[in-house]
Amino acid sequence: MKTSKVVAHRVVIKVGSSTLTAGTARLNRRRMLELAQQIVQVREKHVEVLLVTSGAIAAGRERFRNSHRPLTKSVPVKQMLAAVGQSHLMLAWEQIFDMFDVQIGQVLLTRADLSDRRHYLNARDALNAMLAHQTLPVINENDAIATEEIRVGDNDNLSALVANVVQADLLLILTDQDGLFTADPRKDATATLIREVAQLDESIWTLAGASRSGLGVGGMTTKLQAADLATRSGVTVVIANGGRQNAIMDAVCGESVGTCFLPVVNHIESRKRWILSERTTGAVIVDEGAAHAVCDGKSLLPVGVREVIAEFDRGEVIAVRDSSGRDIAHGISRYSAAEARRIAGRKSVEIEGVLGFEYASMLIHTDDMVLMNPAP
Ligand code: GLU
Repeated sequence: MKTSKVVAHRVVIKVGSSTLTAGTARLNRRRMLELAQQIVQVREKHVEVLLVTSGAIAAGRERFRNSHRPLTKSVPVKQMLAAVGQSHLMLAWEQIFDMFDVQIGQVLLTRADLSDRRHYLNARDALNAMLAHQTLPVINENDAIATEEIRVGDNDNLSALVANVVQADLLLILTDQDGLFTADPRKDATATLIREVAQLDESIWTLAGASRSGLGVGGMTTKLQAADLATRSGVTVVIANGGRQNAIMDAVCGESVGTCFLPVVNHIESRKRWILSERTTGAVIVDEGAAHAVCDGKSLLPVGVREVIAEFDRGEVIAVRDSSGRDIAHGISRYSAAEARRIAGRKSVEIEGVLGFEYASMLIHTDDMVLMNPAP
């Protein structure tokens, strides 16, 4: 086996229905096993992996294949298929990962969980806790209850949102094609694989129109949408063939596999831009010690908070002010204003006793904070 060096340390791997079924109408467990083996190999190299898996509806259809009552294409029937299929999909993954002693955990998400501020933090904290405990998050959209308004709709975009939430280095989208081609390779013999995309411009979007994949919801268009979203939040994206040997290890080692989309910003920049673009909904006045700590790049602990101004929710961006009323930083609050008032001036170890629960030991984590006038 090759001994290339790992370049991506946190990776979201999206496996589409066409890959999971290997082009048939049912889950292909051998294909799933091959993918799991590759995931285990990269985990052994200390790469953190999150798996976004499609196939719930495909697995549901498999269970109903002998049903006499025809299945309509209505939304409730698809929801039912997803409800039935999701547990079979998970069972299949669980049995496979059990062979490698890998603990997995199911996470079913909707758009609201990844965009609504409070839910976003909950999803992020849960995924991070799983990674911290060497548990492999196995993620899908919550198709059984997700209706149009709260659906992401396809797992390509879902995987990009997840990659953004956990600040992955790499989003690997495994599909039944080798990547993005200059033309549809099934129709045009001159079509060549595009190895690298530095800028996702109009010419690239035009190429996607030509290609449609069979089983999954997403053709190349949703993959490009995902690449666009993820690269804007600092994630490298690779679209590769899920049937290719060692696709996962090669991508994680930065070797040329499929089409690679380069990030347009780094994580920190993207996060800072987001925080600065948000209107602050409240503020905290902090004491001198906390003001110094924050300016030194430390998290803001409740013990340094003197006063909480206005009402805000967990997950909203608030201002951190010194005693003269000057904004020294803006950041995402882990607690609501009401909760912050109750823990203000208290030591972090007291949080649980005061509130009855603890989201985090700090009010604002340094990674979620932008200094307004950083030292030169
Ligand atoms: N969430 C859907 C499923 O598990 C698949 C969506 C997609 O393939 O993009 O069946």
